[in-house]
Amino acid sequence: MPFPSLGLAPALVHAAGTLGFLTPTPIQAAAIPAVLRGADVLGCAQTGSGKTAAFALPLLQRLQEGPRHTPRRVRALVLVPTRELAAQVGEVLRSLAQGLPQPPKVAVVFGGVSVNPQMMALRGGADVVVATPGRLLDLVQHNALRLSAVELLVLDEADRLLDLGFAEELHRVLALLPARRQNLFFSATFAPAVETLAAGLLQEPVRVEVAATPQDAPAILQRVIQVDAGRRTELLRHLLRADSPQSLGVAGGPGRALVFVATQYATEHVAWKLYKNGLFATPFHGGLSQGARRQVLEEFKAGRWDVLVTTDLAARGIDILQLPAVVNYDLPRSAVDYVHRIGRTGRAGESGVAVSFVSAATEAHMRLIEKRQHLSLPREQIAGFEPTEVEPQEKAAEAPGTGGIKGKRPSKKDKLRAAAARGQA
Ligand code: AMP
Repeated sequence: MPFPSLGLAPALVHAAGTLGFLTPTPIQAAAIPAVLRGADVLGCAQTGSGKTAAFALPLLQRLQEGPRHTPRRVRALVLVPTRELAAQVGEVLRSLAQGLPQPPKVAVVFGGVSVNPQMMALRGGADVVVATPGRLLDLVQHNALRLSAVELLVLDEADRLLDLGFAEELHRVLALLPARRQNLFFSATFAPAVETLAAGLLQEPVRVEVAATPQDAPAILQRVIQVDAGRRTELLRHLLRADSPQSLGVAGGPGRALVFVATQYATEHVAWKLYKNGLFATPFHGGLSQGARRQVLEEFKAGRWDVLVTTDLAARGIDILQLPAVVNYDLPRSAVDYVHRIGRTGRAGESGVAVSFVSAATEAHMRLIEKRQHLSLPREQIAGFEPTEVEPQEKAAEAPGTGGIKGKRPSKKDKLRAAAARGQA
């Protein structure tokens, strides 16, 4: 079904075309008509499915249709978990809005950088604000913007918002919004906390669940390779070399990959070890300035780097088309993180491979991730890298370098309750 038959105005169809979006992805085909007729939407979609345009296109159309305010007032609010995603969503909105008869002003605000330029950018108001929740609340407190005219709210990557501990800020933002509004809720996973948030927010939502088809969720080959922890870098080098039989590389050159590690220190350490051995690898982490992060991403996109070694936090929202491989050098802490990591490959119709390294000490942790994702992945061993360490007993929740699986360790409250019970006994 082509874009025009979804009810989009010709100017927006044209704008989509200039970004190379000629045929809607399944999530776009399902969500756009629902948003245009004013329904709440509950979208189950991973990054890579085209979900940004699925809400950006109808959002822009609705803004064209509604009343204009002078000075400008925020009519659409998009909440996202990270600054990278905020910047990306802002970029998509601005590109699509460019050719509209009355282009809306899009402001992007996120924490970790000085608030002053963002306050300046909000002078004279904005029609659309893309924000991380904490910085948005700061700006409201500074009277830099008001949310009382919001007609359309988008929660993007709602599971990540909760996972990053934004629940409280989120509720504070929601309390500032008018009760009568349209809500669009997108999440890759639906843990109970996400379901509860959605249930409290949405009214008779249209559920848009895009079944995994080769077009929208291309085949991501998930591999689990057993290797001793101390030999992971060596194995990674081996896999990235084009001539090895189980290579992640492509003929004629080394593979391009996003490598996940547990800490900032490890991004530097692993990237340096790879670099010393002739691979163009560079670290990417939250300790780098915003400018440095942007530069690394641009250089990676331009092919200057083949391997980006990153943490979950830094990599969130990264959109690099045709990223062929994701490597879990350290396993993710939670099953939700696992889904988000592997979603960085196999984007927009491309196929990809996600490799997880497991050692004797992290095998049980991997099994927990598989259990939560209803997966059962075969274990591989690579000739020359067969593990020698033995799996310890009863180590399921405490994999080194991962901090154990989320939700499995006693919380502060659990500990207090246990202490109180001991006191009573
Ligand atoms: P998203 O899931 O929004 O992060 O989008 C993933 C990638 O798909 C982005 O690089 C988009 O530019 C691209 N994309 C989105 N919609 C389409 C479309 N209809 N046709 C082709 N590519 C698209």
